[in-house]
Parts: sequence; C-alpha cells; structure tokens
Amino acid sequence: MAEFDVDLFVIGGGSGGVRAARIAAGHGARVMIAEEYRMGGTCVIRGCVPKKLFVLGSHVHQEIEDAAGFGWTIPTSTFDWPTLIANKDKEIARLEAAYTANVEKSGAEVLKTRAVLKDAHTVRLADGKTVRARTILIATGGAPNHGPVIPGIEHVISSNEAFHLPELPKRIVIQGGGYIALEFACIFAGYGSDVTVIYRGDNILRGFDDDVRSHVRTEMEKAGITILTGCTVTRVDKHGKDFTSHLSSGSSLASDQVMFAIGRHPNVANLGLETAGVAINPHNGGIAVDAWSRSSVANIYAIGDVTHRFNLTPVAIREGHAFADTVFGKRPVQVDHASIPTAVFSQPEVGTVGLTEAQARAQFSHVDIYKTTFRPIKATMSGRDTRVLMKLVVDGVSDRVLGCHIVGDAAAETIQAVAIAVKMKATKADFDATIALHPTAAEELVTMRTPTARHVREAAAE
Ligand code: FAD
Repeated sequence: MAEFDVDLFVIGGGSGGVRAARIAAGHGARVMIAEEYRMGGTCVIRGCVPKKLFVLGSHVHQEIEDAAGFGWTIPTSTFDWPTLIANKDKEIARLEAAYTANVEKSGAEVLKTRAVLKDAHTVRLADGKTVRARTILIATGGAPNHGPVIPGIEHVISSNEAFHLPELPKRIVIQGGGYIALEFACIFAGYGSDVTVIYRGDNILRGFDDDVRSHVRTEMEKAGITILTGCTVTRVDKHGKDFTSHLSSGSSLASDQVMFAIGRHPNVANLGLETAGVAINPHNGGIAVDAWSRSSVANIYAIGDVTHRFNLTPVAIREGHAFADTVFGKRPVQVDHASIPTAVFSQPEVGTVGLTEAQARAQFSHVDIYKTTFRPIKATMSGRDTRVLMKLVVDGVSDRVLGCHIVGDAAAETIQAVAIAVKMKATKADFDATIALHPTAAEELVTMRTPTARHVREAAAE
C-alpha cells in the first residue's frame, strides 16, 4: 500500500486553493481539494464578484440622472431588489459550477466537506474518514470579524448577509471605514437607501493616501452619504423591524439594517493547527509562513487570506500558483508583494498603486508631488457636482514614480495599466515622454509638468 493517498491535499476551494490544485494537478500531482461551503470561495460567492455586480447596478440611477444634460428624457425608473438578488445568484451559481468543473478537468478530486488536520500528513474529513497526503496546503481564507462583543451584536449583519437581504433597506447604518464598508455604503446609496457610515478613526480609508481619503469622503458626502468619524456603535436595540444604534458620542440612529465591516480574521480556528504543529504569526493572527508560503511544518504550506498578508484575490491566486510551481513543477517561484495595485469600488472609484505621500516621505529624502483635481468632462454637461483626483508621488533624486493615486470614474481600470509602469520602475520622465490620449481623464497623468509640492528632508545633524 502506498504511503500517501495523494501528493497534495488542499483545504479550501477559494481563489488560492483552486489555483494551486489545478496547477499542481497539471504538473502531474495526485490532488484532492476539500471545500466546506461553495467552490469559488469568498471572491466568487460573497466577495469581489457579487460586490462588483451590485456596484455596476448601483451606478444606473446616476447614469439616468446624468442623461438629462445630454438631452435624454427617461420615464420614471423603478428598481426591484429581488430581481437584482435573483440574477446575481444565478450568475454566482454558474461561476461556482464552472470552478468545480475546471478543477475536475485538471484531474484534481473535489470533496464537498470540511477538512481539518489530524497530524502533519493526515487530514480528517467531516464524516471521520482520513486522507494521508505528502503535502498539505491550507487555503481556508478569512471571515468577517465584528470586533468586541457589544449588546445587540446578534442584530448586526456582515457583508455575507448583505448579499442576501430580502429587501433593500430604506435606511442603513454601516460601521467601518475600510474598502468593504465604503463600497457597500455607495452600493446601498446608489440603489436609494439612506446611508450613515460610522468610523472610529479620524478619517475613512486608513492606509490610503491622505488626499485620496479626504477626496473620497467629500465626494461621498456630496452624494448624500452621512459619514460620522471619531465614534463607534456601542449598542444595537431592535424594536419590531427597526433598529437603534447607540453611538459612543451619545447620539443614536434609527435604521432598517445595521452592518459592520470593521475587519476580517483568518480562518485558523479548529483546524487542528496545534495538533499538527503549525505556528500562528503573532503579529497578524494568520498562519506564519516564509517567502515560499511554507509553514512551521516542512510539508504544510498556507496561502491567501489565511496568512493575512495581502487579502486580495489576485494575491491568493499568485501565491497558490507559485506554491504549485515550486513544490510540484520544479520551478521555484517566490511571490513579489511589492507595488500591488488595489481599488475601492466606491462612487467615485479609487485606484492606487505604490507608496502614499506619507510613506514616501518616511522612506525617501526628496519627494515630489504632482497633484491635480478637475471636473470630468461628462460633468460639464450632466451638471453633476464631482471632481477627479490624480496624484503622482515621485522620488526627487532618482525621478522614479513611487506611487499613483486616482479617484474618479474608471480609476480601477486605469490603475491596472499604470501599475505596469510603476512595477517597471518608470520615471516621471518616462511618464512625460508618453504622449497624452485626448480627451481622457488619465491624460493628466502624463501632462502634470510642475510639482505641486516638494519635500526635502533635512540631513540628520552629525
Ligand atoms: P477564500 O476565497 O476565502 O476561500 C477559502 C475557502 O475555504 C472558503 O470557500 C471556505 O468555505 C473554505 N474553508 C474554510 N475552512 C475550511 C475547512 N476547514 N475545510 C474545507 N473548506 C474550508 N479582493 C480583491 O482582490 N478585489 C475585490 O474587489 C475584493 N472584494 C471583496 C469584497 C468582499 C465583501 C470581501 C469579503 C472580500 C473581497 N476581496 C476582494 C477579498 C477576496 O475575496 C479574498 O482576498 C480572496 O477570496 C482570498 O482567497 P483565499 O483563497 O485565500 O480564501
């Protein structure tokens, strides 16, 4: 009898696990992958994809309003939330089936079950059966984390439930200032809800460039979203179908739903990590891994959100691919986590890559800032009160573009292309040498001639 049933057992059928299973099977490995909920994981089932579908639909109302300035008269429009949910569910079911089929086509076996570690080489399934594996990959992702327990926390929904609400809330309170909270705030506002965002810090989008943070806040407030910073929800009461959120500031808010999007934790609980000897990273609570995604146990690897490094789908996919190539493809690859482009699908969108101004000023002695805000051409006809922000952060010594930050329509699409240049270490002179494409908003990125600010750090005294 063979020592191992499979070469690779993957726990978790999300973005990272699926990619790793397919690539490893392609390299000839015998692979099993276990998924306890739905194949495709967070991104496909209750993350990026359904979120983007919601975002796209939420823009329609604004398009209709903007149409008037271009001469269109559109009869009164109505919106039906159950139709949106049903059509989204249909698309997600299609994608889930495609994910399962693609994994099976690669030769890997899909098990619809929870799986946990029994020891370093053995996985136990929900029915008690065990599988012996030469290598184990943990790709169990993460889950919403509501923070400290407050009275009435059981009334609070997360992004998971937001995708399945039976009706559109007329009023919603959303606690959180990160990208998920703001995306849902703009989604609900776009469909017509009255939205209040509660955030404990002094401004939303912590970690993003400060100009981006204030620009997005202003734009969201102009769109009618209330943003209360410097306070938290301390208690939620339910009266019939209504909720009252009590705030640390002493005030309270009535709503039809209360949603928290204040963070996510890696899915490490009850996985048998201690029994197998897999260590947790004390700094972030995820599975501790090295640059090869190898855990403290030599034959156990971990990728994606469960390692709590950069919780983004393309990162999980890249890590899964690199793991499979390294371990089964005789092609050692380490993932380069520098200059990962990211977006916030708020209204307007944010696209960003590289360093913020504050990060650059902490790391470089000379930092030049090129910044512009302007009214997009469409707004001149639609009359909408909105502005675009474009910002480049440049190393004043080497002329290298260290960061690019955009707030405006199609910012995410634009930043994906700009990220190639930033990754290639393009200089400001390279940007300037590129001829503008007119008329676009993005042409500003290659036509900003003069720095709007120049920061020179004094040399430390001898
Ligand atoms: P996951 O996709 O979470 O997959 C893990 C899988 O493991 C899950 O299916 C889970 O059911 C399964 N599992 C867990 N434990 C077990 C077990 N013991 N046995 C069997 N199965 C198990 N990222 C972006 O890049 N762009 C976006 O726009 C974006 N939007 C997002 C919006 C929301 C609302 C959320 C919540 C996330 C979003 N993300 C986005 C993040 C993205 O979804 C994650 O980074 C990505 O899904 C991580 O992939 P993963 O493979 O690590 O984990």
